[in-house]
Amino acid sequence: NTDEDKTLPAEIRDKYTLGRTLGKGACGEVKVAFSKGTCERFAVKIISKKKFTIGGVNQVNLGQQVMNEVKVLKALKHPCIIKIEDVVDSPDVLYIVLELVDGGELFDKVVSIGQYDEPTAKLMSYQMVCAVKYLHDEGITHRDLKPENILLATEENETLIKVTDFGLSKFVDAGTMMKTFCGTPSYLAPEILLTVGMGAYTKAIDCWSLGVIIYICLVGYPPFSDEREDMALNKQIIGGHYSFPKEYWKDISEEAIDLVKKLLTVDPKKRATLEEVIGHPWFKDDAMKKKANK
Ligand code: ADP
Ligand code: MG
Repeated sequence: NTDEDKTLPAEIRDKYTLGRTLGKGACGEVKVAFSKGTCERFAVKIISKKKFTIGGVNQVNLGQQVMNEVKVLKALKHPCIIKIEDVVDSPDVLYIVLELVDGGELFDKVVSIGQYDEPTAKLMSYQMVCAVKYLHDEGITHRDLKPENILLATEENETLIKVTDFGLSKFVDAGTMMKTFCGTPSYLAPEILLTVGMGAYTKAIDCWSLGVIIYICLVGYPPFSDEREDMALNKQIIGGHYSFPKEYWKDISEEAIDLVKKLLTVDPKKRATLEEVIGHPWFKDDAMKKKANK
């Protein structure tokens, strides 16, 4: 589509031909990008800078901070983390060229198969834990871990996972955070607002999310849900009101349940760290680790 191409910055237009849309999310669209030189396929994430806000006010000059963060993200290298190939900044839009994967989202996979058997759930969980541990060791909190942001290398059940959509959400929701905590932020310096967005939580928030995802992988439904009639969702989460109903959990090992409990611990100081998770008895399984390292 040549009309559309004219709106692309030259750095993108000269190097890539854009193809079909792979997905949509809060930040914008993700499309296939064919490299003109090599015919390699990539994914390009197209982010409208209007989404970067503080206190509901657009902050296009956040661009520099976003670019600094993207530089950090570009240096990351792990088999279970989507690689950032290239970044192109233009006045209104940021283009992030990514490694492309073909297996779709973990979310759709779980919906289509119902749930993983326990050995496969363990393999997938172990890869996620290792990937997020790597991010934490590099000083990055993912902040938005969910099955839509875990991509799969192939359509097989046992496959390589790739964590995506990390690192930038703090810029997007800083404003929302501010409103929740401090009322009107008219007089506050931007660095203070950003600290609220970034500093109010610790990396323990990722451990909680991993607990939710592992629960879902094992049984195919979430521990906390709007559809539950006993309690509002917020109340379920804040109180840690979830259970392991026998009818779904009777064939699942004690170790798996113990690990989920340690992650879904309401007090972040008592919640398991990823160091502890990696050493947990559920993951003492050499056959699984051999597959994970392949
Ligand atoms: P958002 O911040 O908008 O949620 P994501 O980076 O999560 O953006 O991408 C949205 C969706 O696009 C993903 O859930 C996935 O379906 C698809 N997608 C994103 N990155 C890739 C990729 N590298 N390869 C294949 N599909 C992708
Ligand atoms: Mg996403």
